[in-house]
Amino acid sequence: MSEMPTGIKIFDTQSRTNKEISLSNGQYARVYCCGPTVYRDAHVGNLRTFLLSDLITKLIIFNGFKVKVIQNITDVGHMGEDFEGNEVGDDKVVAEAKKEKIDPFIIARKYEDLFHQDLARLNIEPAEVYPRASEEIEGMQELIAGLIKSSHAYVGSDKSVYFDAQTFPSYGAISGNKLDSLKPGHRYEYHDDGAKKFHADWALWKAAGDRTTMVWDSPWGIGFPGWHIECSAMSMHYLNKKVDVHIGGIDLRFPHHENERAQSNAASGDEVVDHWVHGEHLLFEGRKMSKSAGNVVLLQDVIDRGFDPLAVRLCFLENRYRSQMDLSWESIAAADTTIKRWRKKYQEWRQVQDAHVDTTAADKFIADVIADLNDDLDTPRVIVKLRSLEKDESISPMTKANIFEKLDEFFSLGIMRGDKKAELSDDAQKLLDARNQARQNKDFKLSDQLRDELALLKIRVSDSPEGQSWEVIP
Ligand code: AMP
Ligand code: ZN
Repeated sequence: MSEMPTGIKIFDTQSRTNKEISLSNGQYARVYCCGPTVYRDAHVGNLRTFLLSDLITKLIIFNGFKVKVIQNITDVGHMGEDFEGNEVGDDKVVAEAKKEKIDPFIIARKYEDLFHQDLARLNIEPAEVYPRASEEIEGMQELIAGLIKSSHAYVGSDKSVYFDAQTFPSYGAISGNKLDSLKPGHRYEYHDDGAKKFHADWALWKAAGDRTTMVWDSPWGIGFPGWHIECSAMSMHYLNKKVDVHIGGIDLRFPHHENERAQSNAASGDEVVDHWVHGEHLLFEGRKMSKSAGNVVLLQDVIDRGFDPLAVRLCFLENRYRSQMDLSWESIAAADTTIKRWRKKYQEWRQVQDAHVDTTAADKFIADVIADLNDDLDTPRVIVKLRSLEKDESISPMTKANIFEKLDEFFSLGIMRGDKKAELSDDAQKLLDARNQARQNKDFKLSDQLRDELALLKIRVSDSPEGQSWEVIP
């Protein structure tokens, strides 16, 4: 089948343009998102990047197309990094296992479970497959063997296998870091001891040395894979050698994605990734959120302070994915208030007597929103529009409810939450109907009496110019 354009434009780091996403197989978008390294809790900064993949996925679906999303779990091979992203120190999972004196696989599975829990709390739709690096070793070894065969890789004197960067002339296309500008002295490897032919070559397979855990046999001796080859192997395997959209945080642009591109393209002889999307960093109180900066906030911390975790989702939506954003407890509290108000309003709008829906106005509003989102995911603009819709008295309540309900398929803020209508007992429904009638008859004494009876059934009624609404008393 031929390519299918989607009408969705997102900034592509490689071409540096707002480029249209296209379904290369004409059937569904093939999306790959770099997943977590499972050696510690994901902080809300990591979650901002994972949310980006959810937004792009839901936007593709909102535009009427299908999507297949793959997100890897890095449980081996991601070495410690310095501030420039150079590899220094140990494998992050193995180092944590040593510290906690537990098997590294137990560490990895524990943080993988917590990662899934966080995604669910943020209403992030699960990917189709979450391949674990440690379970994809065979595919990685095949890829490495192919790269050696085509002379893009070689076995170093230390028995590690290196990618020969100079065999890939377009190196640097994503990040602008061309090989001739990469000075020796930049360490891309923890084994920088002369085993490589060229300072910018990087390891595809690392000789185990003294390491005894998370190591596998290979044609080049016992060892473990490099982090970059993992993403090449998993993305090409699960998406059949073509990735329509590849997503990650901005720090992964170099060297992780630059190296992934070199490996995948050298192996396939083609441009494997069409669209590189990078989300900007989350700052907290002015500094990039990271363990080393000591300003990590977990989603659990947000819940422990009594906020709805979806308040964090709304904070992210209020900022463009391509801008750095500064989160604070004040902004989380404000978003929490907004979400709760919208849920309450939604219930009120749904319960008004006048059920008139202006479908022309609703369709236009939704079409405008889709146009904003298709223009490089302008979520802040849409949130501003939702805030004015909320207050717009020229739009009927039921129309507003319908718009919020439809858009929540994309925003996923749980706007319909609290819609306990189905749980209302017959008695409570009869009392509500009677009270509504009493109010229309201006019989306020009866209406008050019915409100007290409803309270005994744990239903709290309130009145607004738009009519009577109710909620369950917790
Ligand atoms: P890691 O688990 O360290 O491999 O990171 C998972 C994802 O989170 C990667 O895509 C990173 O680029 C991203 N990331 C790390 N720190 C931040 C941050 N402060 N804000 C946004 N994304 C981040
Ligand atoms: Zn990756």
